[in-house]
Amino acid sequence: MQDYDLVIVGGGLVGGSLACALAGSGLRVAVVEAVTPQAPGGAAAATPPPAQYDERVIALSLASRRIFEGLGIWPDLADAAEPIRRVHVSDRGHWGFAHLDADDEGVAALGYVAPARAIGAALEGRLAQADGVELLRPARLGGLRVMQHHADLEVAVDGVSRLLRTRLVVAADGGDSGVRRRLKLGAREHAYGYDAVISTVTPLDPQPGVAFERFTDSGPLAMLPMTGGRWSVVWTAHERDTPAILALDDDAFLAALQQRCGRRLGTLTRPGRRIAYPLRLVLAKQITRPRVALVGNAAHTLHPVAGQGFNLGLRDVAELADLLAEAQVTGRDPGGPAVLNAYRQRRGPDQRSVALVTDTLARLFVNPFPPVRAARDAGMLALDLCPTARHALARRFMGLGGRLPRLARGLPAASR
Ligand SMILES: Cc1cc2nc3c(=O)[nH]c(=O)nc-3n(C[C@H](O)[C@H](O)[C@H](O)COP(=O)(O)OP(=O)(O)OC[C@H]3O[C@@H](n4cnc5c(N)ncnc54)[C@H](O)[C@@H]3O)c2cc1C
Repeated sequence: MQDYDLVIVGGGLVGGSLACALAGSGLRVAVVEAVTPQAPGGAAAATPPPAQYDERVIALSLASRRIFEGLGIWPDLADAAEPIRRVHVSDRGHWGFAHLDADDEGVAALGYVAPARAIGAALEGRLAQADGVELLRPARLGGLRVMQHHADLEVAVDGVSRLLRTRLVVAADGGDSGVRRRLKLGAREHAYGYDAVISTVTPLDPQPGVAFERFTDSGPLAMLPMTGGRWSVVWTAHERDTPAILALDDDAFLAALQQRCGRRLGTLTRPGRRIAYPLRLVLAKQITRPRVALVGNAAHTLHPVAGQGFNLGLRDVAELADLLAEAQVTGRDPGGPAVLNAYRQRRGPDQRSVALVTDTLARLFVNPFPPVRAARDAGMLALDLCPTARHALARRFMGLGGRLPRLARGLPAASR
């Protein structure tokens, strides 16, 4: 039996970030991760690789950059991250239009776009030197028993069974969280019936720093600026259309994409690999119970329409790391009610409001009913013409709305 203060189940983008945040805090931390960088398909290679090893590209908010700066990770990521200076939002074939501009907000960039792999590699580099963090992988959670003063986890590490005892279990094991299910924490789940087909393209006339979000009859299309003048494509397609989109040859894919984008983006070339992700909402009914906290996708899995899922998870990390570091300094129990109640009270409202906004956008912008369409176009125009509303939206996009953890405000974590 090995003793820890904290066991993080899931060492993905969110669990890995939490482990980095707690390195050197004095807490004894174990990370239980199923997949190794050498075998990103997992022990069962039939399963797709987790986000840190796959092809998705992540729009990082300004708050996320601050958190990564606070954790000392940003310098390793900066070269792979393209700033977003302007966002164009439009409704294909209709008059709705809005835009956000970094200059209007007095910031150098509204956010950044980085490949998930680059974020994963930066975290991996940090974790390799993390003080007080033991990385167990390939390791899978077998059993979990939660008692009053501790929890016991049975974990198969490289096929060998081990028992871990801890004062706090953090579930960072993604949308299908085994911890959440085992403990019957319950979640609201909704499959949208749409997929995100992702790829990359290179425009003949690059528009560095400009992101496009275009709403179309069959769902939103996002074009996010990447380094090297490329755009990351996130094409939301009805699940019945996905196989046909994946089967298109490159020229036909470019032609179809070009038709959806309109002329504003110019000629698109060099399409990359296409991969489809089924889209769903998962919102845990409880994000804590005695000795347990949920973070990231385990607590909230969102439609990527507004690029919020990881950013929200990183704010969970910043808050929980702060509370845990403070508990360590003051000698409080890391899995006790004071830490867990504060985590639930501070993170619940942000999680619920971002999930609501994202879910509303995802449903509203695939609704072809003319009055709904007219109302949303009017809403977009009103937004574009009203600086106060635009400013409020930009602050949300930058991850600066509502109560912010210290790291997201650019302050050092409580322990440093
Ligand atoms: C197409 C697409 C585009 C997106 N774009 C954006 C964006 O622009 N901006 C944004 O903020 N977010 C975006 N997201 C969301 C973002 O990818 C997720 O929010 C983020 O990856 C969640 O990270 P996580 O670590 O919580 O979960 P996961 O990435 O699911 O990681 C869970 C980890 O737990 C491990 N694990 C699971 N079960 C076990 C077990 N039993 N034992 C041990 N280990 C286990 C897995 O191997 C994995 O490493 C996008 C998502 C998609 C699908």
